Amino acid sequence: MFICPICKAKLNIQGKSYACENNHSFDVAKQGYVNLLPVNKKHSDNPGDSKDMVLSRRAFLESGYYDCFTDKLCEIINSLFKDRDKITVADCGCGEGYYDGKLESLNCDFEVFGFDISKEAVRYAAGKYKKYNYAVGSCFDMPLSGNSFDLALNIFAPMVESETARVLKKGGYMIYAVPGKSHLMGLKKVLYENTYENEEKHTEYDGFEFVGRHSVKSEITVNGEMGVNLFKMTPYYFKTELGAEEKIIKNSGFTTEIHFDFLIYRKK
Ligand SMILES: [Zn+2]
Repeated sequence: MFICPICKAKLNIQGKSYACENNHSFDVAKQGYVNLLPVNKKHSDNPGDSKDMVLSRRAFLESGYYDCFTDKLCEIINSLFKDRDKITVADCGCGEGYYDGKLESLNCDFEVFGFDISKEAVRYAAGKYKKYNYAVGSCFDMPLSGNSFDLALNIFAPMVESETARVLKKGGYMIYAVPGKSHLMGLKKVLYENTYENEEKHTEYDGFEFVGRHSVKSEITVNGEMGVNLFKMTPYYFKTELGAEEKIIKNSGFTTEIHFDFLIYRKK
């Protein structure tokens, strides 16, 4: 299901590396992932989330704060594929693999191919979720073969509709999770004087039919270091002036709305 980043031919595993029919070869790292991000597509030495951010996200997510979202995600997938014995899943921007791990509760058999631009994130995903397949790769140039997937997951990753449509089978589904209007309002109130609701995403994407939206809202209370972990998962980490971490720790805890919208699409 992985393709060669140079010639786009299918990759086959040969011992400890992947190779295409044109003899381009990519070593499998000891954690079990393969790097399919061509050097000339990298905009920096280490694109994507840093190790520090990856570890913060893993610590936060594994504490169960987002369980209401993973429960809903599995419920949606089970209802979309209730007649299927097995599905192939592309996790576009898989991060450190947390959501893949939660697919264990699906009713059908499944195979996961995940990729992320962050090598650190993929290293942690592959190290923990041994039975899935992981690669370093970009949402803008997915390292996946065309017409091959029943389901594409995009959870807070860049949306590249043309690439997502390419890798899905006809009639395959895309689940696009985006921050809902009130997501993390309590965290924003700790950080900023003026806060605004998130904009609601439009729902039209070329090549897809919009199937529906599922909103999931809850409230969590986050203390101390865990607040900092949450902060490092968000875009505010890049946008907020120095001293934000101290502000969160000094606050010694905050309560915040959490709100995901799951947008469901079918490939035409
Ligand atoms: Zn090749």
